[in-house]
Amino acid sequence: MLRLGDLKIYVCRMKKLNFYSGPAILPEEVLQKAQEAIHDFMGTGLSVLEISHRSKEFVKVMEEARELVKELLQLDHNREVIFMHGGALSQFHVVPMNLLNEKETASYFDTGTWAHGAQEEAKLFGTVHIACSSKDKNYTYIPRQYTIAPNSKYLHITSNNTIYGTQLSTQYISDLKSLTNPLVCDMSSDIFSRQLNFNQFDLIYAGAQKNMGPAGTTLVVVNKEIFGSVSRSIPRMLDYRQHIAKESMLNTPSVFSVYVSYLTLQWIKKCGLDTLEEQNNRKAATLYGAIDSSQIFKGTVERDSRSKMNVCFVVNPDLAETQRAKLEDGFIQFCKNQNIIGIQGHRSVGGFRASIYNAMPESGVDKLIAVMREFERKA
Ligand SMILES: *Cc1c(COP(=O)(O)O)cnc(C)c1O
Repeated sequence: MLRLGDLKIYVCRMKKLNFYSGPAILPEEVLQKAQEAIHDFMGTGLSVLEISHRSKEFVKVMEEARELVKELLQLDHNREVIFMHGGALSQFHVVPMNLLNEKETASYFDTGTWAHGAQEEAKLFGTVHIACSSKDKNYTYIPRQYTIAPNSKYLHITSNNTIYGTQLSTQYISDLKSLTNPLVCDMSSDIFSRQLNFNQFDLIYAGAQKNMGPAGTTLVVVNKEIFGSVSRSIPRMLDYRQHIAKESMLNTPSVFSVYVSYLTLQWIKKCGLDTLEEQNNRKAATLYGAIDSSQIFKGTVERDSRSKMNVCFVVNPDLAETQRAKLEDGFIQFCKNQNIIGIQGHRSVGGFRASIYNAMPESGVDKLIAVMREFERKA
């Protein structure tokens, strides 16, 4: 009898260009390898969906995934890599639970919905000082000025604000380094998109589903030396030191998500972080260039704060209201007809957002631009 797994036929998906913000596009070769592993995981004759997380094959995947992160981010020996559950949102409370005593203060950048959510959770554990906020202009810029509270236990930043399309530049982040605080960063939507000195952070977290893999696992990079100063008892599953000690196997990890993230990390290594960064720079530059030269579209973010991952734009607000509404609906539909999906802006911003993570090829961005131009010609 013929077993499905014996047939190396790849059922190619109906090709759509996926500009969703997350879960987001993954490299085609990663999808193909994941598909193979669903039928036969590394020659075990078992599916990756049914394999034991204690099997030597998966333990090796977990080890190698953590090693790959260390290698790609060029981490020093103080940094540990762990995979946790609960998404970036859980880190909003796990971070203060592990680092902030009740009578202590932590400083937070208020640069968007997620950054704001992180502060709200931290307030459950200690005092939050808002170092800066761009809420006054609906989070369309990164503030140049900020104040860190004296004796601040740590500083929390969000390197890329996925919903509003703003990003802290590499220079901006390295200037923060001169501060004495431990630096904590929600890097969910731009990790592995550019080269940085990752050792300047004491804690980095990222939900996998933007630029690293499918939803289900959360990457955490920590400086082991920042723990041990909180007096509260921490439940085991929420204690970073426990996850470090058990090498991300404190309980059953998200096996499939970790495996597909591992495949993506291998792909990132093959491409090279430097090459991906150059490509991301080019993609963002061409797309913003097209928006800036358009008569009907307009970017929503101040130029020096623009994200290279999430490009937000609207129908030019100078146009008449009735015309705008028509163009907005029309463009989404026009894109759909061209197999372009996921460009609707977040409901708090409106308009459009094109998420152009690592796996989005330059040709995909070129296609979007061609469709924008064609729409404009016909409008
Ligand atoms: C998507 C996102 C989150 C939320 O992530 P979950 O994994 O769904 O909890 C938090 N922060 C940023 C910057 C994000 O882009």
